[in-house]
Amino acid sequence: MTGDCIFCKVIAGTIPAARVYDDEQCIAFTDVNPQAPHHVLVVPKVHVTSLAFTTAKDQELLGHLMVAANEVARQQGLEHGYRVVVNTGPDGGQTVSHLHLHVMGGRHMGWPPG
Ligand code: AMP
Ligand code: ZN
Repeated sequence: MTGDCIFCKVIAGTIPAARVYDDEQCIAFTDVNPQAPHHVLVVPKVHVTSLAFTTAKDQELLGHLMVAANEVARQQGLEHGYRVVVNTGPDGGQTVSHLHLHVMGGRHMGWPPG
């Protein structure tokens, strides 16, 4: 937990969120500003600033988050496919400095992203 981190507060329950998944290492909740009919954030319970702050020691956690993302997509009924995005740092468009995976689906995704 870091003092003013929004997602640490969601994990602690001091900021409300619509949780759709919860396990020992991560939670998932709906994005407040959805960019697709289904838009869920998968967030590790430990504070990690971004993907750029991870190393080989985080391999198990990162794999766990990907498996959780697929579980969320399955729960959301995204059998036609979905997109997982990890915005990283200023150029990556990251606005919340706590690692998170966006799981988006329910519409066709264009490429390249903006
Ligand atoms: P990013 O820009 O990749 O860092 O993504 C941060 C995401 O968090 C954005 O899509 C926001 O809409 C979302 N967000 C910010 N605050 C909350 C919150 N309290 N509950 C749910 N989603 C949030
Ligand atoms: Zn945090």
